[in-house]
Amino acid sequence: MFVDIAHIKIKAGDGGDGAVAFHREKYVASGGPDGGDGGRGGNIIFQVDDNLSTLADFRYKTKYRAENGKNGGTGHKSGRQGEDLVIRVPRGTVIREKESGAVIADMSTDEPFIAAKGGRGGWGNKHFANPTRQAPRFAKSGAPGEEWDITLELKLLADVGLLGFPNVGKSTFISVVSEAKPIIADYHFTTIVPVLGVVYMGEGRSFVMADIPGLIEGAGEGVGLGHEFLRHVERCRMLVHILDAGGSEGRNPAEDFEAINRELKIFNPELAEKPQIVVANKTDLATDEQLSMLRDYIEGKGYEFYTMCAPISEGTREVVNAIARKLDTLPPVKRYEEEVLPREFFENKKDSGFKISACGDIYYVEASWLLKILQRTNLDDYESLQYFQRVLQSSGIIDALRENGIKEGDTVSIYDFEFEFVN
Ligand code: GDP
Ligand code: MG
Repeated sequence: MFVDIAHIKIKAGDGGDGAVAFHREKYVASGGPDGGDGGRGGNIIFQVDDNLSTLADFRYKTKYRAENGKNGGTGHKSGRQGEDLVIRVPRGTVIREKESGAVIADMSTDEPFIAAKGGRGGWGNKHFANPTRQAPRFAKSGAPGEEWDITLELKLLADVGLLGFPNVGKSTFISVVSEAKPIIADYHFTTIVPVLGVVYMGEGRSFVMADIPGLIEGAGEGVGLGHEFLRHVERCRMLVHILDAGGSEGRNPAEDFEAINRELKIFNPELAEKPQIVVANKTDLATDEQLSMLRDYIEGKGYEFYTMCAPISEGTREVVNAIARKLDTLPPVKRYEEEVLPREFFENKKDSGFKISACGDIYYVEASWLLKILQRTNLDDYESLQYFQRVLQSSGIIDALRENGIKEGDTVSIYDFEFEFVN
């Protein structure tokens, strides 16, 4: 089955630990510290791949992890960086944070997107030497890589979406006006995977048309394939509503028209408001009287109305021209703006606790939820810094540091962020 939504877990690589080591040489009593830094963990990167048209792969593999950075070595050797993990998705995939539903990225362009940053490598002990501490016996551990639960949702990027009950001739239409070769058959739900067709207008003008899984009644409430279909048309700039003019299979085209628009409204009222033009197909099976009654009905509702017999390309040119004219008046394909995850989102994760450990006058704080806030805090910005300090207060970290005996002037080290403790 056609999969257009998937839930996956991603985890970037952890940074490697810094090394504790001292220079050793024959006849040299004790050399200075030379422990190297840990390597950065690998990032998780999303990238559009036009060879993909569904999210089916993500149904079977739901956990993605990038490589950890290697630990630092002796002799100033830095650890190797973890390899980035590139996840390929079809164009038009929208990435959301699962819990809040916030859009993290809209994969419509070729721009790669770093969804989870690898943790930075910890410093080796060579960084911690100073005039009073010449042989530091400690180094920093690497920071953990970012971890997210995300939802991938495929929303096709097409200018025009075809709308209509199964068997009205949508696939036939797209196959005669574009290079797309959908399966055309005399039974319902032949279109399982969406088909995109480029319609060339000459003079370098073109638009993209999508033939997507058929709509059935009740689709607005999530019955059958219809729901997935509707998810795709959300992005289209306009809809072309195809009717079976001849009313084969006992269909009544006017009733069909209303039924589908009802479903649209239930799924998403915005969809029902999208510009629509109406095309009666299968004119060979309809009488002139049927056609003119249908025309009166549709035009009476304020829609443009066209007729065609798709298999012999009769009337299809007029339909294509009408679509192009309409598109000229419409805004470009909808892009999803990236949303900033609300602060409360991170704060709600506070209950996951923290760990404090002291080494001399340095106090280490570890808490994975705090790391996420830290990575999103601009430490050069006063307001952000204030916010970060409030989080440290309200989460009880400051109190815990005091209980652990921290004094004015000691260093607080939170992953790769360090500051001097001020009472
Ligand atoms: P879809 O389900 O809407 O994609 O419909 P298809 O394009 O697969 O067409 C369904 C059936 O109707 C196929 O057997 C087509 O050959 C047939 N068909 C499509 N357009 C016409 C038409 O204008 N006249 C007639 N008589 N049959 C048509
Ligand atoms: Mg079809």
